[in-house]
Amino acid sequence: MTNRREFLKTAGLLTAAATILNPFELFAQRGERALKGIKGSNKTMVLTYRPFEAQLRHVFTISNSSRTTTPIVLTEIAWDGYVGYGEASMPPYLGETQASVIDFLKKIDLSRFNSPFEIQDILTYVDALAINNTAAKAAVDIALHDLVGKIIGQPWWKIWGFNPSTTPNTSFTVGLDTEEVVKEKTREASPYKVIKVKLGRDEATDKMMINTIRSVTDTVICVDANQGWKDKHYALEMINWLNEKNVNMIEQPMPKLMLDETAWVTENSPLPIIADEACQRLTDIPKLKGAYNGINIKLMKCTGMREARDMVTLAKSLHMKIMVGCMTETSCAISAAAQIAPETEWADLDGNLLIANDVFKGMLIVDGKVTLSDLPGIGVVKL
Ligand code: MG
Repeated sequence: MTNRREFLKTAGLLTAAATILNPFELFAQRGERALKGIKGSNKTMVLTYRPFEAQLRHVFTISNSSRTTTPIVLTEIAWDGYVGYGEASMPPYLGETQASVIDFLKKIDLSRFNSPFEIQDILTYVDALAINNTAAKAAVDIALHDLVGKIIGQPWWKIWGFNPSTTPNTSFTVGLDTEEVVKEKTREASPYKVIKVKLGRDEATDKMMINTIRSVTDTVICVDANQGWKDKHYALEMINWLNEKNVNMIEQPMPKLMLDETAWVTENSPLPIIADEACQRLTDIPKLKGAYNGINIKLMKCTGMREARDMVTLAKSLHMKIMVGCMTETSCAISAAAQIAPETEWADLDGNLLIANDVFKGMLIVDGKVTLSDLPGIGVVKL
C-alpha cells in the first residue's frame, strides 16, 4: 500500500486526483445559493421594469424616417439576492411602444417557476403569451440570462463555449446627411475599422454618401439599403458600383417580400447579401437559404439570447453567414448581443455609442473590435 502510494505520488497522480475533486468543492461553496434554488426553495423571481428614453447624440436617419430619441423599457429580475438586467428597445417602425411592452410584462408571472435555471420553460411560456412583442420578450430573456450567468458566476460566451478572440470589428454608422456633416461624422468614425452606411434613397444621394466618405477615408464600408432598392437590375448596378468602392457587404438591398428578385441579385452579386428586415426569427431562416448569403441577428427582433443562440446554430448548419446587429439601445442589450459575436462574421454593435445617456457600462470596443469581458451574465455594471 505504501509502495503504491509512493508510486502514485511520484507519478503525480495524487495531485491530479485532488485537482479533479476541487471543482466539486468549489461548486459546493460558490453554488450553494444556486443549489438551494434548484432544490425548490420558496424563493420567487421578481420582475420589475421602468420606461427610459435614450437621447441620441445625432439625429438618426434611415431611408424612410428620422428621430432624436428612442423609447426603451429597462427590466430587472431579482432572485435570492441576485439581480439580472434586461432591456427592450423600440425603434418606432417596429410597432412596439413603452406602453405595449409594459402591458406585455404585466402578464408575466414568474412565481410559477421554481428557479431561474428553468430558462427553456420560462422563455417558452413568455413567448406563448402573445404573437409579437419581440422586444418585450427580449427584455425578459436578457434579464434572465444575466441573472443565471451571475448565479453561475460566468459570462454567456463562456457558458456557450465560444472563443472570445474570434469576435469581429464592429461597424460604426454614418447616417444620411449633408456633405459637410457626412465628412465630419466620417472623421468622428476614425477609431472604427468598419463604417456602416445607410443607403436606399435616390441614386444621387446614395452615390454622394459613398463619394463623400471616400473623400475622407478608405476604411472598409458595410452598406445597409434598408429595403430601399425596388428594382433588381438597379440594385445589382448599385452593388457593382459599390464593389469598386471597398464595400464588403450589402444588407437588405430590396424589400423583404421580393424574395425571388433578391435571390437573383444575390446570385449575380460580387458582394455578400445579408437579410435584416427579412429575417426576424429562427423560423425565417430556412426560407432565406439561397436568396441571401447570410442573416443579421438582433435580440429585439428574435426575442433575445436563447433564440439568437439557436439562430447561430441553424444558420451555420445551412452554411449561411452571420451578422449581429442592434437597435439604438443601452450597453445592457448591446453587451447581451455581444455574447454571440465570436460566432459572427460582421458586428454592428454601435447602438450604445449613439446615445448620450447610457445607464450601463458593458462590452467595450477595443481598437475597433468587439471585446468580451469575464464579467458574469451579460457582462454589465449599472452606472
Ligand atoms: Mg439593417
